[in-house]
Amino acid sequence: MSRRFLSIGECMVELSQAGDGLLRKGFAGDTFNTAWYARACLGPDWSVDYFTALGDDAMSDEMVAFIDKAGIGTSLIRRIRGKTPGLYMINLKNGERSFSYWRDSSAARSLAADPDSLREAVESADLVYFSGITLAILPQEDAATLLAEIRRAKAAGKLVVFDPNIRPRLWSSYDIMHATISEGARSSVLIMPSFDDEAAHFGDDSIEATVHRYRALGAVHIVVKNGADGVRLNFAGEESFVPAEKVEQVVDTTSAGDSFNGAFLAHYLETADATAAARFAAGVAARVVSEHGALVAKEKLGLDCG
Ligand code: ADP
Repeated sequence: MSRRFLSIGECMVELSQAGDGLLRKGFAGDTFNTAWYARACLGPDWSVDYFTALGDDAMSDEMVAFIDKAGIGTSLIRRIRGKTPGLYMINLKNGERSFSYWRDSSAARSLAADPDSLREAVESADLVYFSGITLAILPQEDAATLLAEIRRAKAAGKLVVFDPNIRPRLWSSYDIMHATISEGARSSVLIMPSFDDEAAHFGDDSIEATVHRYRALGAVHIVVKNGADGVRLNFAGEESFVPAEKVEQVVDTTSAGDSFNGAFLAHYLETADATAAARFAAGVAARVVSEHGALVAKEKLGLDCG
């Protein structure tokens, strides 16, 4: 029987510079990127579905077609009349990238506004993936609705995975950000934070401090990513370390953490070996940072992922 990997969050329209003042259109967003890499690495026994809300405009239709073409299920996506997707633009100035966002009124902000469709989606899944960005874009009462479903999923024995992906600009206050991200972690089984975010926004002075903080909240497994310095795993209390792969030339680190998460989860679901999964994911992430863009095609990942 087929099993389901469900990722919950916001996918946006991406505009990047294509030279001569032209813009190239793409689609990306943290939880979608992770679904993309999970799909690329999982075998046919698993379906990968994306849960979000979109509008009824042509751009929403195009995004659904794009997600579908990537082999990711779209049947759970809510469509809301009169709404549109969020959008962001990558600006380049003297080789430095910066981002502008238009997402304040995106359809995805309503993804938890219909509790029945949310419950149906979560109940249908074996693995549920979400992030701090998923929580940050929701009105507070909808974030509470989502977290209640996440807790039900954890209680039902599903693998609930959370990447805190801390983005202060998306939150109305530091207190709400700290409380909601901590609640996200408390409601989950496996936490996949990036150490630089945790150090900057939770004041952790070491990777061990990050592991202890999430463990104290009730996480069972923790994988702390630390860029080129590798990852520290604590799986059911057992510690291990996996180095990053050497990369000749880092081209674009967009989606490094998202791709690591997707590849890690795919390998872990197939083998139940967290350390081997981290080694595999380090290989995928190394290829992703060697290429432009958030979504690197499966063929370019050059991996036999089943
Ligand atoms: P995030 O993008 O969430 O901040 P990290 O920067 O920790 O996440 O990167 C995630 C993973 O991507 C790392 O664990 C590592 O495997 C890989 N990675 C990131 N930067 C590099 C790099 N410069 N060289 C090799 N691998 C890297």
